[in-house]
Parts: sequence; structure tokens; C-alpha cells
Amino acid sequence: MKYALVTGGSRGIGRAVSIKLASMGYNVIINYVSNEAEALKTKELVESYGVEGEILKFDVSKREETLKAIENWQENHQGEYIEVLINNAGIRKDNLLVWMEPEDWSSVVNISLDGFYNVTRPLLQPMLIKKFGRIVNMVSLSGLKGIAGQVNYSASKAGVIGATKALAQEVARKKVTVNAVAPGFIKTDMVDGLNEAELKKQIPANRFGEAEEVANLVGFLVSKESSYITGEVININGGLYS
Ligand code: NAP
Repeated sequence: MKYALVTGGSRGIGRAVSIKLASMGYNVIINYVSNEAEALKTKELVESYGVEGEILKFDVSKREETLKAIENWQENHQGEYIEVLINNAGIRKDNLLVWMEPEDWSSVVNISLDGFYNVTRPLLQPMLIKKFGRIVNMVSLSGLKGIAGQVNYSASKAGVIGATKALAQEVARKKVTVNAVAPGFIKTDMVDGLNEAELKKQIPANRFGEAEEVANLVGFLVSKESSYITGEVININGGLYS
């Protein structure tokens, strides 16, 4: 029995990644924060591959709540461990910094950056003991390039990129890899309201990406074929930035 946890697995990229992992034979734990109906849909899609799907509600930005949910899961799965972690949960609250309210700074940073810590820390030790693990962090073009109007989001994703590189060095000997995936514009709820027709003119591929295209990259980083890749940030943006 192999287990993978996808934070923010209810919708968008997280759903596509959950399905990809199911197709690779993983039982998938689908984390979500509020949208149970969508999480259940992902569970159904996961189970269509003949593996287990399990929904697990917790807010990644809340340390105690996250720890409790993970400990409960562990108690109910004695002898098992989560060998794949996809830190995918994220939000954006865009505004110019001069207008940015404190809660819009905090919520974005707490979900992406603190969320990385809150979820990864309790799952890391079992990976080290079992001498196999895969951690993939969903970052963004914004965290590499910086995007005006997204100082909070750029800062949080850049923070996760630094964490990815540092943690990769701490755990490489134990055959745990840690990588980041940096999408450009991907068609999900997160980009609702953006003018695709206008924005795609800046993208060499002349289109937004699909969540499944990101999931395929994550699938490779999780696979045994990627064993010697760690501490990397891999862009997936149709040529928009490299
Ligand atoms: P999305 O469609 O808006 O989905 C966001 C997911 O995150 C949902 O499953 C949501 O759960 C979950 N979530 C939000 N806050 C959470 C919290 N506090 N605790 C646990 N789960 C939480 O977003 P997406 O486009 O798939 O984005 C996924 C990741 O890719 C994010 O980290 C985002 O920053 C990154 N990304 C996206 C794009 C893009 O163009 N779409 C580009 C670059 C990077 P509920 O369903 O319960 O709300």
C-alpha cells in the first residue's frame, strides 16, 4: 500500500495531480479546506483507478489542526506511511503593496509558506526512517520573477523555493527528493477573471496550460525515474519565462 497526500487536492492542479498519482498506483489522501463537494468528486475520480481515495479536511495554515489531522491518519494506518507529499494548497490575494491589507499579506504567506512547514515537518521523519520519499512543492513563476500586484504571493512562493533547495540538501542521503514546480498560467479557478485572450499574447505557446500538464510533470518527479533530481525548480509555463 503506497500513500500520497495532496494538499488542496479538491480542485484545479491538486485534483489533476491526485488523479495522476492514482493512475500510478497510489492511494491518495485528498486534503481540502472548505469545498467538500469538490473533494468528494476528486475522491471518486481517484477511486476509478482502483486505489483508495480519502478526503482529509484541514487548513494547512493552522499548525495544530494540521498536525492533529496527520496524527489521526497515522493512528488509523499503523505501519503505513505517506511516501509522497505534494504541497499544492495555495491562494492569491492580489493588490499593490501600498494598498495591501495585513490579512491579505498574512493569509497568502501563511497558507503557502507556513503550510509547507506545517505539513512537511510531521511527514518527513517517516520518509527518512523508510529511506524513501518524494516531496513536490507547487510554487509559481511569480516566486521566481516577481509579479507586480503579487508581492505577498511572490514572497511566499520565493520562500518555498528557498525551503525546497535547503531541505533537499538535508534529506538527499535518505533517498528523499524535494523539488518545486513553477507553473505559469494554468486554467483553474485561480485564474478565473483573468483575460486569457489578452494574456496569452505574451506566452510563446499562445495558450494557458492545463492542470493535467502540470500533473504529468509532478508524476515524473514522484517516479523512481527522477531519483537523481533534487533541489530543483522546474518551470512549466509555455515559454513565458525561463
Ligand atoms: P485552485 O483551483 O484555486 O485550488 C486551490 C486549492 O487549494 C483548493 O483545493 C483549495 O481547497 C485548496 N486550499 C486553499 N486554501 C487552503 C488551505 N488553507 N488549506 C488547505 N487547502 C487549501 O488553485 P490552483 O490553480 O489549482 O492552484 C494550485 C497551486 O498551484 C497553488 O499553490 C497555486 O499557487 C499554484 N499555481 C497556480 C497557477 C495557476 O495559474 N492556476 C500558477 C502558478 C502556481 P478548497 O477546494 O477546499 O477551497
